Amino acid sequence: MGKGVSFSGFFYICSLYVYVSFPKMGKLYDELSQDYRLKEGLKTCINCGTCTAICPAAEFYKYDPRKIVDTVQRQDDEEIEALLKSDTIWYCGECMSCMTRCPRKNGAGLVIMALRNLAAKKGYFTCSEKGRQLYPLTKALNGNVLNLGYCVHPSTFAYADHPESGPVFEWVLAHKEDVYARLGANYQGDGAGALRRIPQEDLDELKAIYDVTGGTERLETVERFSKAKAEEMGMTMEEYLAYTFSHCSPGHFNDED
Ligand code: SF4
Ligand code: SF4
Repeated sequence: MGKGVSFSGFFYICSLYVYVSFPKMGKLYDELSQDYRLKEGLKTCINCGTCTAICPAAEFYKYDPRKIVDTVQRQDDEEIEALLKSDTIWYCGECMSCMTRCPRKNGAGLVIMALRNLAAKKGYFTCSEKGRQLYPLTKALNGNVLNLGYCVHPSTFAYADHPESGPVFEWVLAHKEDVYARLGANYQGDGAGALRRIPQEDLDELKAIYDVTGGTERLETVERFSKAKAEEMGMTMEEYLAYTFSHCSPGHFNDED
């Protein structure tokens, strides 16, 4: 150590160098880093782009999982906040193809699950069109689970909501009891079998699981932030539900250029 610089002074200069050379670890990153999906999904990304090359969502959407992983890896809070408010994190289909090919065993899909969780918790999902779709999806899928015991159930389908499915699907819906019986299901019947009616005591148990695992709290959080956004957009909750379910602006897809 030279005469002019004490050990503590040297240490301070080193600390300063580290401080200015690397982005400061922020609060959002701190929160993200507590999520086991981030711990599983992000070791060290070398930016090779293999995840993007294999990703089916990147084929259709203006979407690049490599950039998402890189943004999180930089730990810059401003960039992470922009990501949480963007459409980008909602394009992923969670197929996990990226994880099978990453040379560093990262999982972009897992990183994205952690980002979505934080976006939902903080209400940032209401800042993007694809993020706002969390409201109708949360309402429909969790409503089905809690009321019927199924994530998706034919009794909730309405052909008017899915005209793209064509006339055969319309006919199946109109004759579903007969169609499902012929396929061997026990549609809304008691006892065992596919599509059987789930007893109330089992539905009560499902609700209790939601309560203790944070599911109920998450539903309330999504509802609360969506209500605030609906008010900001001058809509009733019914209008907001219909709008977020069906509205799709141009600009999301690769072939739109
Ligand atoms: S494949 Fe893995 S290492 Fe390569 S860019 Fe994607 S996450 Fe990073
Ligand atoms: S999990 Fe998401 S990011 Fe990974 S390949 Fe599938 S769609 Fe792409």
